[in-house]
Parts: sequence; C-alpha cells; structure tokens
Amino acid sequence: MYFWYLLEFLFYDTMSIAVSKITKVYADQKALNDISFEIPQGEIVGFLGPNGAGKSTLMKILTAYIEPSGGNATVNGYDIHTDPIAVQKSVGYLPEHNPLYLDMYVREYLAFNAQIHHVSKQRIDEVISLTGLTPESHKKINQLSKGYRQRIGLACALLHDPAVLILDEPTTGLDPNQLLEIRELIKTIGKEKTIFLSTHIMQEVEAMCDRVIIINKGTIVADEQLNEMMEQTDQVIEVEFDYRVEEAFLYKFEHIKSVKNIHGFIYHLTFDTTTDMRPAVFDFAHDHELKILQLARKNRNLESLFRQLTQ
Ligand code: ADP
Repeated sequence: MYFWYLLEFLFYDTMSIAVSKITKVYADQKALNDISFEIPQGEIVGFLGPNGAGKSTLMKILTAYIEPSGGNATVNGYDIHTDPIAVQKSVGYLPEHNPLYLDMYVREYLAFNAQIHHVSKQRIDEVISLTGLTPESHKKINQLSKGYRQRIGLACALLHDPAVLILDEPTTGLDPNQLLEIRELIKTIGKEKTIFLSTHIMQEVEAMCDRVIIINKGTIVADEQLNEMMEQTDQVIEVEFDYRVEEAFLYKFEHIKSVKNIHGFIYHLTFDTTTDMRPAVFDFAHDHELKILQLARKNRNLESLFRQLTQ
C-alpha cells in the first residue's frame, strides 16, 4: 500500500500541471466540462480550439485568477484551491490581450512588475536580454510594434523565473515576421521551462509544440504527441503545375495513395510514406516538361483532425 502512495507521490511530483475533472459554469453556460490531463516537466503543449472553446477559462483557473465550479488542479505541485498564491508565484502568465501600461518605458514597466515579485535588478537585465528587448529597453511601450509588445509580456511572465509558463494566444495579431520571431523565442524559452500555450491556429502548434490538446465546446476531444502524429501522417503535397495533368497520370508516383484536383492546375498528392516526396514531384515535372508554379508539403492530419473534431 505504502509503495503505491510513494509511486503516486513521485508521479505527481514530476507533473508541472495536473488537471482533474475541472468544470466551469458561467451563469447559464458550461464553459468547461470535466477536463483532465497532465503535463510533465519540460513539455511545450499547445492548447488548440476554436474561439469560445474554453481555452482562456482554463488558463485563468490554472493561474488561480478564477475558481473552477468543480474539480481540482495543481501547478508545480501547488493546489489551486488551497495554495493560490504559491500557484501564482510559480507560474508566468501572459494573458490573452497582454495588458501593458503604454505610457511607461520598457525598463520602467519591467522594474514596476519586478517590485511585485521582489525580483533583483540583475534579473530585469537578464529577461530584457533573453527576450531580445535590449535595443528597445529605453523606449516607451507605445512606440513599439505588437511583436515587441509581446516580448515585453513574455519578459514580464519570466521575471520571477517560474518553472511553468502559461501563454494565452501569444501569437495572435502578429505579422508573419513577428510571428516567426516570437515562435523562435517561445521555443528557446521552452528548452528550460514547461509551456502551456493556447491558440486557435493549428500551424502554431505544429511550429512550436511537442504535444497538442484539442478542446471543443468545453470538452477535450484529442490529446496527442506531435511526433507520433507526424509518424502516422500521410504526406500531402500541394503542387501547382502550369498545365493540366491527367489524374491517372499522377497515380504513377511511388507511394501515391490519392490524387485530388483542388482547382485549376492545383493538385493534392497524398503519399503513404514519410520520405520527402517533393524531389520526386520536381523530377516528374522536369521529365514531362511541366513547370511548377508552387509546391508545398502539408500536414493534413492535424488539419483534418482539428476540422473533424471542432466542426
Ligand atoms: P476561448 O479562450 O477558447 O476563446 P473562453 O474561455 O474565453 O474561450 O470562453 C469559453 C466560453 O465561456 C465562451 O462561450 C464565453 O462566451 C464564455 N465566457 C467566458 N468568460 C465569461 C464570463 N466572464 N462570463 C460569462 N461567460 C463567459
């Protein structure tokens, strides 16, 4: 008996986040319905779901900003009901709209937040450097782009060096360059911390996460490791030729499973192999004197899974 208690204790101890049967009801609406999952230390987990699915609600519960209607959760081993202050101390939280004081200077804003957590001046310099804010640190926040404002939000979340980061839609509203920069920054930070991030864009999960948890209408509908999903994935290549090609002709590819003409001269070729088939498509075009106007590898599985589960 004692052995099982010890095993359970050790198991929970390695969990950064443990969610058990969480339910949240707002007035007349159930926003979360019996949610359970665990996140071990060091994982980057994408919490994917359409708008209104319940992502922010769960994140607010895990950061002890709101109470669930039922169920329990621990963060870093601290109970959200009995130890909310300890939960908040061990979590870095980037809320959905990243509220900042726009009239403050970057360093001044971080110093202001550092006071709340009793953080040293040296740590402010560290997070400024880590989040790539050094050249902007003397500027006013309202002079900065959305991408740099997200960096300030991340810097703030990192100030007290928490083991767990909870990031609510960290890439929403960024332009493509800012998006790449923030993704890289999150991946860098993720080497040392557990990250639970929400998004409604599946490409964000593919680009940053080890694992995806999909939520729809307050219920978890999938929980998968990305690498396992990729391994099972049929490879889909979208190719646009400069001329029409008979579909039967495209079935001559090795490993081809299906061919679909999307529109015009654009085709989706599905292969049942993980070997990159793009070079074979290039060779095919060359041998048949076709020009390739565009070629992209798509991960159809996460996309189709997401559509299927959330429609
Ligand atoms: P997501 O973050 O996935 O977009 P939310 O957690 O914000 O979803 O919302 C889940 C559901 O709960 C939505 O239908 C939303 O309208 C509702 N909701 C969220 N916050 C409140 C609130 N404070 N009062 C009433 N309903 C709310």
